Order: sequence, then structure tokens, then C-alpha cells
Amino acid sequence: MIEIRDLHKSFGPLEVLKGINLRLEHGKVLVIIGPSGSGKTTLLRCFNLLELPDQGILTVAGTEIRFAEKAKIPRKTVLGLRQKTGMVFQSYNLFPHMTALGNVMEGQITVQRRSREEARSRGLELLGKVGLSDKAEAYPHQLSGGQQQRVAIARAMAVEPEVLLFDEPTSALDPELVGEVLKVIRQLASEGMTMVIVTHEMKFAADVADLIVLMDQGFILEQGSPQQVLKQSQNPRVRQFLNRLS
Ligand code: ATP
Repeated sequence: MIEIRDLHKSFGPLEVLKGINLRLEHGKVLVIIGPSGSGKTTLLRCFNLLELPDQGILTVAGTEIRFAEKAKIPRKTVLGLRQKTGMVFQSYNLFPHMTALGNVMEGQITVQRRSREEARSRGLELLGKVGLSDKAEAYPHQLSGGQQQRVAIARAMAVEPEVLLFDEPTSALDPELVGEVLKVIRQLASEGMTMVIVTHEMKFAADVADLIVLMDQGFILEQGSPQQVLKQSQNPRVRQFLNRLS
């Protein structure tokens, strides 16, 4: 379970998150949508403390962290939370000098202290799951964007996180490669993986989300099921945002 209460985050004088509240049950998928600059990525990065909130409470799978301005969060707490979350970035961020398999093994060896054999076996299993068994020995520059992103998903899964975080996972991809990445994410959703996804892909959001959060200027403008947010919302700013997309 993930819960956020009254979360605030500023960059200097710019308040980017202005009191966010949400709750996601285990095994569910949260999709965050909203206009550019509304705070979606910042909110996502607060989930694994790549951004440190100024104020509020964050709970991820039983770890509760209370933030107060200038209070230091112990390193152990940060690392503990990071181990519960896997992150998939817009630009893949694979280690360029490692093969696909090497990328998927790395965290298992350094974070989880698995043996090389164990990490290799689990790595191959995960590459199979994302449809890349034949690319285990390929380096990132030898892979398409869609393939690199699928390796990144396998890598994030390899350390068995409680929740997977996706920051616009398809927005760097050529349109014809988007489908293969969304298919993998859909598959994970159907297997009950807890996920938080920032995306501009509205059809995908409607398909995969249990909960949609629509952000605007650092606030949650609307949250609910895809039906409630995308179809039934009467909020004029929600309608305006959705109309602009269609
Ligand atoms: P997009 O859809 O364009 O990716 P977003 O909704 O994800 O946008 P954020 O990336 O969270 O928006 O950014 C929200 C605001 O915070 C923007 O005005 C952005 O310029 C600002 N911002 C984000 N990161 C930083 C930072 N590290 N330092 C200063 N300002 C930042």
C-alpha cells in the first residue's frame, strides 16, 4: 500500500507540490496525468526520494516517512525505501558498458547480494518475460529504444520491488515502438504488480489504471477511476485538459 498525506515540495520559491493526498492499494495501478509542468514527475520522484519533500507523510509498503523542512532523513531509511521501489526512466538510463543481461544482474548482485549464478538465472528469466531472450548479450547501443526500455523494466523488476515507478516510459520512443513497451506494462498490471505511471498516453491510461490522478499546478484536480476522471468529471478544467488532447 502507498499513501501520501499533505505532501509539499518547492524548488526555491517555486512551490511544485501544494498538498498532495492519495492512497493506492497493493496490486493496483495509479496513473498520473496532467498538463506539462503540473508536478507529475516531481510527485513520482518523491515516491523513492529522488526528490525530498519539504513536508508531509509518505508510506510505501509499511515504511512511513515524515518530512519536515530541513529535517534530515536517515540514509538507512532512504536506502530501505529505494529497495522497495523500482524506477523506469523516460530515457532508459541503462549502464552503457554492460550487456542487457549485465544490466539486469547488476542490482541483484550489489543490492540483494545474490550470487552471479542466481542473478544470471533470474536475469535470463526476466529478459524472457519482456521478450528479449535473444538479446541477453547485446549492449544498449545495439538495441532499439523499445528494447532498451524493456531491459530497463526487467532491471527494475529484478530486485523484486514492492512498487514499480514509471516516468513517461514511452515518450522518448518512436511511435511504432510504443506498443511493445505498453504491452509489457499491461502484462505486469495483469499479474498484480503495484505501479505508479506518469504518462501522456491517454488510451493506455484509461486501459491500465485502477486510479487516475489528474494534476494541475501542483494540486490534484481530480482523482478516481478512469471512468470517473476521463468520462464523468464535470470540472471545467478537467474537461478543458481532456478536450485539448482529443
Ligand atoms: P512534464 O509533463 O512536462 O514532464 P511535469 O508535470 O512532470 O511536466 P515536473 O517535471 O514535475 O512537471 O515539474 C514541475 C515544475 O517544477 C516545473 O515548473 C519545473 O520547471 C519545476 N522543476 C522540476 N524539477 C526542478 C528542479 N530540479 N529544480 C527547479 N525546478 C524544477
